[in-house]
Amino acid sequence: MDALTAGELGPDLTWFVLAMRRLEWGYAQLREGECDPRWETSEFDTDVGEVLNDAGANLYYFSVTRSLKSATRCYQAAVLLLKEPYGAIPVENLLRAALLATVKALFILQPNKRKSREARFGHLYHADRSALEYAAFRELKLLGLEVPNDDSKQPQPQVIQESKIIRDVLDDLVAYGNCLCDGRACPQRDIQGFRHRVLLLWWQYSSVSHVNIWHVEKLSRASPSGDGYTTGDLGRAFHDLSWLYTEAVVRFHQRYHLPDKLSPLEPHAARTFR
Ligand SMILES: [Zn+2]
Repeated sequence: MDALTAGELGPDLTWFVLAMRRLEWGYAQLREGECDPRWETSEFDTDVGEVLNDAGANLYYFSVTRSLKSATRCYQAAVLLLKEPYGAIPVENLLRAALLATVKALFILQPNKRKSREARFGHLYHADRSALEYAAFRELKLLGLEVPNDDSKQPQPQVIQESKIIRDVLDDLVAYGNCLCDGRACPQRDIQGFRHRVLLLWWQYSSVSHVNIWHVEKLSRASPSGDGYTTGDLGRAFHDLSWLYTEAVVRFHQRYHLPDKLSPLEPHAARTFR
């Protein structure tokens, strides 16, 4: 199998080229942010959100920066894999992870009120913690080690639906309204359409990552090597997701009062300052 060809990236390579420009722009903005000595400190602008752990570290800020870093690394790895002969499956798995990391950052950055931002982070954090406690409890049982007999002490995993996080983030974007710039390459020009496309990508990529069979049946299309593609336009997908990534970068700079560090980008990055 060869590397993905230009044709497999979509009928109009412009989307892919624009996506690369947006991603590179986002990486550069975050790199500059990381040079700020406050980047790794829990004291960094606690007005945005502050949820401390027992050691006094600000988990809210840690979560924001971790999500942005995860998204960045996944996009970089996905782009790198396009040149390798492994087909679309690992690329789409990485795009799914990048999308999730991007929306997790946005999920806790979007609300204008600090209490709402911290409440959203609380949902994410407690779901993570309860999943960990549940897994530890199940492992003890599996190994036949001592566990509390009292059923009420058995940890119950709290599930936070990833689809719901994505929908909430996209709904917030819809609430900001359409951009009036009239640029063809501005996804915010038709934010409802953008919402629909991103949700579709999420479902398709989740199907790839869970090795579901329905997307193959649905598309009835496979590459000569046998790799099924879930999307006919990978370039367009990259572009939509890269725009969402720039939205997270812009929002991060806005919340932490760093807009003066943003360089210009053409076509423009997200314009959701409120
Ligand atoms: Zn616009």
